[in-house]
Amino acid sequence: MSRSVLLLPGDGIGPEIVAEAEKVLHKVNEKFSLGLSFESALVGGAAIDAEDTPLPADTLDKARKADAILLGAVGGPKWDSLPMAKRPEKGLLGLRSNLELFANLRPAILYPQLASASSLKPEVVSGLDILIVRELTGGIYFGQPRGVRQLESGERQGYNTYQYTESEIRRIGRVAFEAAQQRGKKLCSVDKANVLEVTVLWREIMEELKSEYPDVELSHMYVDNAAMQLVKAPKQFDVIVTGNMFGDILSDEAAMLTGSIGMLPSASLNSEKQGMYEPCHGSAPDIAGQGVANPLATIISAAMMLRYSLNEDDAAAAIEAAVSKVLDQGLRTADIMSEGGKKVSTREMGEAVLSAL
Ligand code: NAD
Repeated sequence: MSRSVLLLPGDGIGPEIVAEAEKVLHKVNEKFSLGLSFESALVGGAAIDAEDTPLPADTLDKARKADAILLGAVGGPKWDSLPMAKRPEKGLLGLRSNLELFANLRPAILYPQLASASSLKPEVVSGLDILIVRELTGGIYFGQPRGVRQLESGERQGYNTYQYTESEIRRIGRVAFEAAQQRGKKLCSVDKANVLEVTVLWREIMEELKSEYPDVELSHMYVDNAAMQLVKAPKQFDVIVTGNMFGDILSDEAAMLTGSIGMLPSASLNSEKQGMYEPCHGSAPDIAGQGVANPLATIISAAMMLRYSLNEDDAAAAIEAAVSKVLDQGLRTADIMSEGGKKVSTREMGEAVLSAL
């Protein structure tokens, strides 16, 4: 069975880091006989330059047909003065909405070799491996009505609507339970059920789903406590599931536990498990073209793609083990460089992962 992967390098360091991940994918494709085929397309600023739109019809068409998408990053100062609708970021948002990518998966993994990069004590974070599953297309960021209105008193009032339907909660819940099944079998649902009715419903639906996943241990936590526990004892968590706004905040907090943005992957999935995989960082225009960017977040995103969209756990685990091995060897790009490390370029880091495979 042939499955297709669409590569969207994008802008800035995007092409440099995607090139390394592509080599890694070719290698595991061969080694594990995965039967993957690859295509590329333009998105973001690169697409604006070539076709005057951040999301050309051809790119969207290829994205719809692909089994999975690997994206570098989009954006940069060159396009910052364009009107909102024409900005590179619209390419990303267009892909997310057209493909209905409602589940955002953001792991926060701290390789023990990099424990000193975190601002927390090494013993608190070393070996950290948590996954935040954030609902991405609903909740208060999209709820209607919204706006700023004039009250009879003459005062202006800003308002938004926090809402989730049962089906929206159920589908993100299923993604999270299934992810927990593939990992440590512990799921913590984060809500504010002591104050917000919408999250009372959220909690009820998570409880209902529990019977479908008897091997997963479900717990609940209020979001304020979750924010504290993430810095106090983050290793208590395996998978966290939460709504759009809480997930936005908690996933950034969790990312910072690791201290190195060049190491963090992410995935956005739809109900067919089709997904877009990308590093958490942006296009880093300050270092673009210098060959110094860290390609590991993109390479680890490729591993996530194999696991979550292509059901190739062994190939995914092989990539993750190879990344861990190059870190053991002391190889470091500039962003994760520490005393005693051997500084390498983007390409050298990619080559080292290939050799480790
Ligand atoms: P950024 O993540 O691009 O860069 C922040 C800092 O981290 C910079 O100093 C950069 O050099 C460094 N950095 C990022 N990735 C790195 C890597 N792989 N290796 C080494 N160092 C790395 O964030 P920013 O500077 O706020 O944004 C730059 C551009 O990227 C903007 O146009 C922004 O809109 C865009 N952006 C895109 C995405 C995306 O495509 N998903 C996400 C965030 C920002």
